[in-house]
Amino acid sequence: MKIWLDGGLQDTETARVSVFDHGLTVGDGIFETVKAVDGRPFALTRHLDRLARSAQGLGLPAPDLDEVRRACAAVLDANPMPLGRLRITYTGGVSPLGSDRGDQGTTLVVALGQVTRRPDTTAVITVPWTRNERGALTGLKTTSYAENVVALARAHELGASEALFANTVGQLCEGTGSNVFVVLDGEIHTPPVASGCLAGITRALAVEWTGAKETDLPLTVLAEADEIFLTSTLRDVQAVHRVDDRDLGDTPGPVTAKAMRVWDERATDHIDP
Ligand code: PLP
Repeated sequence: MKIWLDGGLQDTETARVSVFDHGLTVGDGIFETVKAVDGRPFALTRHLDRLARSAQGLGLPAPDLDEVRRACAAVLDANPMPLGRLRITYTGGVSPLGSDRGDQGTTLVVALGQVTRRPDTTAVITVPWTRNERGALTGLKTTSYAENVVALARAHELGASEALFANTVGQLCEGTGSNVFVVLDGEIHTPPVASGCLAGITRALAVEWTGAKETDLPLTVLAEADEIFLTSTLRDVQAVHRVDDRDLGDTPGPVTAKAMRVWDERATDHIDP
């Protein structure tokens, strides 16, 4: 498999990242997961905007977005897949442990391979750990994902595919790798970015395309909501049929089913919405 590193395509088997790369030693890096449909990256402009915002928030040197675009095209050309995903990683670059990061970042673009269309419904759990809505990294898509890894492992142990967090004041926030929506009296709501969630690209498009409202919601809304769904690059819009011990009955419910239809129609028509 060919990946992009140090300005060009390289073989995965021989490509090397320095042991002093800040992304490895202190988790000083950012990333994007991009879906690729028939060799074309979906919503790439939005992903690159977020990459630039994350770099700025973390104080990393600005990534060369033209290079990242070229890299995505080259990696997709070299690894053809009808429905696949790309991982763009950008780190603080190489500098000795204990010193500041270098003045040049490391750009790595990897094709993570073929993905299958997500199942229409899934089970989720809530976890007792909180998202910090006022942290230095809040809203940035950093490679510091260890807390998500722990929460997701808990979800898998309990037969669920996602774990949902509240923030420090008990409001519903997001999942380890997804945003969350609830349906109340026929209206769709999702927590605002101020809740500490990532400004998901699927979330933003779903808000635009379904008219969902951004609303502060207590975590307890999950016990009352008529319907619940998740959004993410790899899930698209996915209905939730169980949250902890609560079975939501026939899923997708009517509002979620419509949101899924609207998503499928619009996303098929627009490769870079
Ligand atoms: N929230 C977190 C913490 C994420 O990591 C992700 C995606 O990886 C999302 C939400 C969903 O964002 P997107 O729709 O851009 O994939």
